[in-house]
Amino acid sequence: MRLVDTINEMKAIIKSNRAMGKTIGFVATMGYLHEGHLSLVNRSVQDNDFTVVSIFVNPTQFGPNEDFEKYPRDMERDLSLAEAAGVDVVFAPSVAEMYPEKYKTYVNVEDITGILCGQSRPGHFRGVTTVVNKLFNIIEPHKAYFGQKDAQQVIVLKKMVRDLNMNLEIVTCPIIREADGLAMSSRNVYLNSEERKSAIILSKSLFEAEELIKQGERNCAKIVQYLKDKIGSEALAEIDYVEVVSGDGLEVIEQISGSVLIALAVRFGKTRLIDNIMVEV
Ligand code: AMP
Repeated sequence: MRLVDTINEMKAIIKSNRAMGKTIGFVATMGYLHEGHLSLVNRSVQDNDFTVVSIFVNPTQFGPNEDFEKYPRDMERDLSLAEAAGVDVVFAPSVAEMYPEKYKTYVNVEDITGILCGQSRPGHFRGVTTVVNKLFNIIEPHKAYFGQKDAQQVIVLKKMVRDLNMNLEIVTCPIIREADGLAMSSRNVYLNSEERKSAIILSKSLFEAEELIKQGERNCAKIVQYLKDKIGSEALAEIDYVEVVSGDGLEVIEQISGSVLIALAVRFGKTRLIDNIMVEV
């Protein structure tokens, strides 16, 4: 496995692999790897001849009062996990390499980035689409793997790829959870033991909401209220949003039909966690 930190070297490696006719799989991460990331990597290694994983904590997707500085980092551990998983190249550029002085260009997907996480994190998706666009241009993957954990992100990225006629396929991979249901996240490390226990309420109440829908409930407002009551009963939980939207276009809906996304963001102390479930009826 090679560790690459310049765009030029990364492009040269891609060029020679493409010339040999190899298929390139790509997994974008901010590092501090866990089983969720590795599930994407495994899929890429399975599907492609050559897998690149990027490790880059992208400053443009963090708000001014967010956790960019203290976002967990452990490059040594990440490299050994990546190598064991069969990754060919870890691309870990510096911030200056990705955003040199006088950097001016941003990519923005409209409307669907202003709701859910986009409402509480203004500018977040503009940072995500910009960095992912840059990474796609550098790595030129045939397939790029993203987790359903960040459900809105994957819908926004699919929209970007379609709208900008990009030559790659985005593959969505299922959410990997801890044994007690908590969705794996690099940010889980911030939780103290009380918050960690409380956070189980997120997946627990989402699974219960899914059950209510399976039993025939079709009213979105009732599902949202159920979740808010359940989560609100946890003393340490502070709800950012709970929403039921259409599963393909993130449209506001009143009645559940087809594929729907139940998505939420909740704070436990200083830590903001997201989770979601896709339900088909
Ligand atoms: P991050 O490092 O948090 O930016 O995540 C990098 C990629 O891993 C994104 O596509 C995430 O959706 C995905 N990911 C993070 N956590 C999980 C998880 N628990 N299950 C599946 N995919 C995940």
